[in-house]
Amino acid sequence: MSHCICVECGVAMKPAENGVVVLELSRGEAICAWHADRWQCPLCNKKIIGGFGRKPVSERGDEYFSATVKKADHSFYHSQMMIQEDVDRQYNNEVIPCQ
Ligand SMILES: [Zn+2]
Repeated sequence: MSHCICVECGVAMKPAENGVVVLELSRGEAICAWHADRWQCPLCNKKIIGGFGRKPVSERGDEYFSATVKKADHSFYHSQMMIQEDVDRQYNNEVIPCQ
């Protein structure tokens, strides 16, 4: 069993939702989608995403990708692939899903 601890509050975070759909972004576009879990601190309500599957559930170019993008709950930039354009988009909370 995995545990997540809120560093600010020093308490265990609680699982808030399992199986959320999370898009991985590059250059402002979704490149793949993952299933993961959302955890939340019971005191400060900060949220994190963890417990990613071993493989993406869908990738750009596959049959179900557009539908998966539409039902995504969250998104993130893969830091090693991040470029300044991504930093700007993340700062502005801008997501441009793949068509
Ligand atoms: Zn907290």
